[in-house]
Amino acid sequence: MDKTIFEAWGFPVERMFLAAGPCSAESEKQVLECAEALVGRGVGFMRAGIWKPRTRPGSFEGVGLKGLAWMDRARAETGLKIGTEVAEPSHVEACLEYGVDILWVGARTSTNPFSVQAIADALRGVDIPVLVKNPMSADIGLWVGAIERLANAGLTKLGAIHRGFSSTSEMRYRNAPNWKMPIELKRHLPDIPLLCDPSHISGRADLVPVVSQEAMDLLFDGLMVEVHPDPPSALSDAAQQLTPEQFFPMVGNLVLPHERSDSAAFSSRMGGLREGVDDLDGQLIELLGKRMDIVREMGRLKAEQNVSTLQPDRWREIVEDRVAKGSELELSEGFVLQLMQSIHEEAIRQQEADRLPN
Ligand code: PEP
Ligand code: MN
Repeated sequence: MDKTIFEAWGFPVERMFLAAGPCSAESEKQVLECAEALVGRGVGFMRAGIWKPRTRPGSFEGVGLKGLAWMDRARAETGLKIGTEVAEPSHVEACLEYGVDILWVGARTSTNPFSVQAIADALRGVDIPVLVKNPMSADIGLWVGAIERLANAGLTKLGAIHRGFSSTSEMRYRNAPNWKMPIELKRHLPDIPLLCDPSHISGRADLVPVVSQEAMDLLFDGLMVEVHPDPPSALSDAAQQLTPEQFFPMVGNLVLPHERSDSAAFSSRMGGLREGVDDLDGQLIELLGKRMDIVREMGRLKAEQNVSTLQPDRWREIVEDRVAKGSELELSEGFVLQLMQSIHEEAIRQQEADRLPN
């Protein structure tokens, strides 16, 4: 984990980088109380939302400018650095006036390239650290694009926050973690530090430790966690906030894995296993190539007879059969279904490519 990049940006870091604080700044007393509970314990900056993007009008929409004054005062009294979410140029201007130490772009905003560009333009020439939360939907291009817009405006201290993705089928989490997205982001942008926001992923305080540990196991550089002195009284996201008394032990209990091990026995055993995986992957790809050869031949036959590319009955049979075979081998239904859908999609694409005049 590369927590040191945050140190280079001037933020305190202990075992991992930590951003902590309430979902929203609610009162001067709450902000000060929170800062006092967080200071001197390895927190990089205190977070608090000043302008809250809410799904329905009429919910608590943040205290606005006066909240920045409270955070500024909390910083002056404790020395804790402060950060908040910006969603439009007027927010950026206010934060720059107060000298807020770090900004983040929220999930609703990173979904909209117009808004991100407006924020980037407002930040041109100011090299403040900015963290970009993933957009609401699992679209890696949008996430990378938002970071690129800020980079193109000359910002060099950029990071990303994984806060999960809204989903209609997810029951356990408020926003499904879909870990392959941050893993993919890291592949595209290996030098950008990556934080996890387990609070917005979980939606429930009791899930926050599990999601945090998962993030550590996946080599995230740190966490942004909602911490409130009295969660049940919170004006937003009451169910997912931890008290400081819950937060610090939770962080202390996290196990931090290393990316590599010096053990020779480990390296040699892993080397052997990886060779096995490489070999099987090679066979898988070859088999898929052979499968597609047959699929194309079938496509030509269908075209000759004016038979449709999609064969719903056959597809239903395939799914049932492969899912059943998979379950005998302890492969989950979801995995086998997703795999077969990918293969089927490519088969249809190839048959259509042969069929359509180019
Ligand atoms: C927040 O951090 O309080 C917030 C609104 O998060 P998100 O943009 O991830 O929903
Ligand atoms: Mn929140």
